[in-house]
Amino acid sequence: MTHTSRLTRAVRAGIETDTTHGAVVPPIYLSSTFAFEGFDKPRAYDYTRAGNPTRDVLGDALAVLEGGAGGVVAATGTAAMTAVLLSLVPPDATVVIPHDCYGGTWRLFDALQRTGHLRFVMADLTEAGGLDAALTDGLAPRIVWIETPSNPLLRITDIAAVAARAHELGALVVADNTFLTPLCQRPLELGCDLVVHSTTKYLNGHSDVVGGAIVARTAELHEDMTWWANTLGVTGSPFDSYLTVRGLRSLQTRLRQHEHSAAALADTLIDHEAVRCVYYPGLPDHPGRHIAERQQDGFGGIVSVDLAGGREAARAFVQGLRCFSLAESLGGAESLVDHPATMTHLSMPPPQREAAGIGDGLIRLSAGLEDTADLLADVRDAVDRAAAATS
Ligand code: PLP
Repeated sequence: MTHTSRLTRAVRAGIETDTTHGAVVPPIYLSSTFAFEGFDKPRAYDYTRAGNPTRDVLGDALAVLEGGAGGVVAATGTAAMTAVLLSLVPPDATVVIPHDCYGGTWRLFDALQRTGHLRFVMADLTEAGGLDAALTDGLAPRIVWIETPSNPLLRITDIAAVAARAHELGALVVADNTFLTPLCQRPLELGCDLVVHSTTKYLNGHSDVVGGAIVARTAELHEDMTWWANTLGVTGSPFDSYLTVRGLRSLQTRLRQHEHSAAALADTLIDHEAVRCVYYPGLPDHPGRHIAERQQDGFGGIVSVDLAGGREAARAFVQGLRCFSLAESLGGAESLVDHPATMTHLSMPPPQREAAGIGDGLIRLSAGLEDTADLLADVRDAVDRAAAATS
């Protein structure tokens, strides 16, 4: 496609490619299998685990948006991460992971370490020198894993700096770009080798798909990932791919509104007596603000808030919300509220959670597409309830 802007590419992914009927929207191919043209004559696709035209529309669109050589669509974000780890990390090799990553990511690393597939060390990659500080005894990592902004604390890692140092150490660099999507941040352009996504979140954007993706910088890595995704059986379904392409078309418009509301929520919460800290990279005193300005096109739609009253304050905050559903996940049209300590990050052992800064008073808000004024009113009432419950 010759369109140059990312917005246009997202909107026009697969449009008018149907040569049979001229359908404007690419048709959905649900078939699990494809007839051979004849004996020993396969067509472009033979079996949907290995390849599927609808899935390829999504994989290609994501590759274009991320600026990569190719995209692999997986059944979930976790499936995408599993494929990367099982394919690229030989037994006993070391992976460096951020100490405050998504709880399910941590659980995956922990499970693979316990079964002898890899070893991991945790690092604070948001600190300059954090990578080297984690590598004691001249340890040479195979992979350095970045998640920025991190879930749920919205910490910012300087992708270019970490990628450069990781490459000096001979490691591959993987970035989880779930929170921002390629319309706001392109890790491959900043030196990463692979990008992973939970497409469950903003890319699909309607909370009706669980999906994932891997985008590779080089054709070799893409070929490798494609082979492994088929071999491990982690590829995504055609129907989910169809829905995700549909979501992709409105991504830019959705992201603007998510960000608009998130910034307003952060501003509202910041000075409240019940609030210990607001985490939002767009706030002027956020420690990662300057790096975010440099490497991001926008600050995203997630705000986290640490309530001074701990668990009881968190309970009072969430009980009574009108416009936020108490549910895991984020990035959908509807606003969601998460209490990481009892929900998304429950799988992290408490000392690990504490070390990362995920306390009992922490609440994560995913600003949806509702009227910003309604979200603000709802959250003002919630934080007043939190104050009253713990005064
Ligand atoms: N990465 C991040 C940053 C996430 O927030 C999540 C899920 O919340 C995942 C990966 C895992 O994705 P999935 O739930 O689609 O397996």
